[in-house]
Amino acid sequence: MPEYSPTDLLDLDRRHVWHPYGPMPGRQEQLLVESASGVRLRLAEPAHGQRELIDGMSSWWSAVHGYNHPVLNEAARSQLDRMSHVMFGGLTHEPAVRLAARLVEITPGPLQHVFLSDSGSVAVEVAVKMCLQYWRSVGQPRKQRLLTWRGGYHGDTWQPMSVCDPDGGMHELWQGALPRQIFAGAPPAEFEKSYARELRETIARHADELAAVIVEPVVQGAGGMRFHSPAYLQVLREACDEHGVLLVFDEIASGFGRTGALFAADHAALSPDVMCVGKALTGGYLSMAATLCTSRVAAGISSGEVPVLAHGPTFMGNPLAASVALASIDLLLGQDWQGEVKRIERGLLDGLDQARSIEGVRDVRVLGAIGVVQLDHDVDMKAATAAAVREGVWLRPFRDLIYTMPPYVTGDDDLARICRAVCAAAREG
Ligand SMILES: *Cc1c(COP(=O)(O)O)cnc(C)c1O
Repeated sequence: MPEYSPTDLLDLDRRHVWHPYGPMPGRQEQLLVESASGVRLRLAEPAHGQRELIDGMSSWWSAVHGYNHPVLNEAARSQLDRMSHVMFGGLTHEPAVRLAARLVEITPGPLQHVFLSDSGSVAVEVAVKMCLQYWRSVGQPRKQRLLTWRGGYHGDTWQPMSVCDPDGGMHELWQGALPRQIFAGAPPAEFEKSYARELRETIARHADELAAVIVEPVVQGAGGMRFHSPAYLQVLREACDEHGVLLVFDEIASGFGRTGALFAADHAALSPDVMCVGKALTGGYLSMAATLCTSRVAAGISSGEVPVLAHGPTFMGNPLAASVALASIDLLLGQDWQGEVKRIERGLLDGLDQARSIEGVRDVRVLGAIGVVQLDHDVDMKAATAAAVREGVWLRPFRDLIYTMPPYVTGDDDLARICRAVCAAAREG
């Protein structure tokens, strides 16, 4: 193999490698990461004078325990020595069985059945397929549409795109080609009766054609980093029950403690009919997601003319990912994770408060281990990223948002530095 210098690698990268939402050939300067440990990413070469960056993003919500964690490494290593993968059709194995059982145990009670897939978007596809197939199987094939509220994000494959925010989102291009879903207004932060009424009425009006309501509970992530009152989940639950519509919670971002509850559904003490988890499921080590459903949904599907769920990814139930996921869940629940998330919430509240006085800042909000500074203009990505890197922190702003969801293991000093970097990015972006 030829030796590549960092410059060679970056040059090849720009010429051949797509990055998320990127052009080809690449125009952006990527940072070349050589390794990562704890909350730090180590770069191959210094950028703006920094060789190490504190990761303020948890690699997009996932690396909740930080990088290179000895417990997760050991889980991967010992599974690797047994098998890294076998097909899941006709075969099964302990890591997947144990993971499914563990997920059933820690998610809301009615969720009893688990479909393991390889990414969040696929988990949402499976959720949609479950709901549509449920209604088809129980003799109501007209119920094929989905309802969501604006400002959401559910992934980049076809069905998930159709329920992402239709305006200003990353998928605007596809309006007209996507399935046409039904949108309610974006949920206000605080509980408003008039909005709750709008939700109920929209569900009632479309009940005949609605298979499911799908939402991100309590926090809308990549669609705009907005928080809303858990009381709306109760409204959705009641309206869905009243009008015969399934309720899907996409907890791919909110799951595993990020909002201060283990799952955002727990803030409202209720259960959806179908729930998706992903991102932090494996502590950021490997790609895996899961779709859980109630026995009613499973029984409905099984009573149909085609009594199976026709979905089966090649890497379904991947043992390596399942083993790391189990270890990650045990690691999380074996510590005072609620205390750690609270500690980070306090640190973010303290550290981001000063952002309120920065010119161009429209809003500062914190929930659990999520901190958001919203500007009154679109971020200058390059300037904002550089400002954060100069502070020794990795941030990835988008639209008008500079935000952080640090690993739960982030120490107080590092957290204060992340907050300084968010403020610097807000000042210069
Ligand atoms: C990231 C995300 C997805 C998509 O997950 P991928 O693993 O990127 O496919 C879906 N829903 C929500 C809420 C997400 O945050």
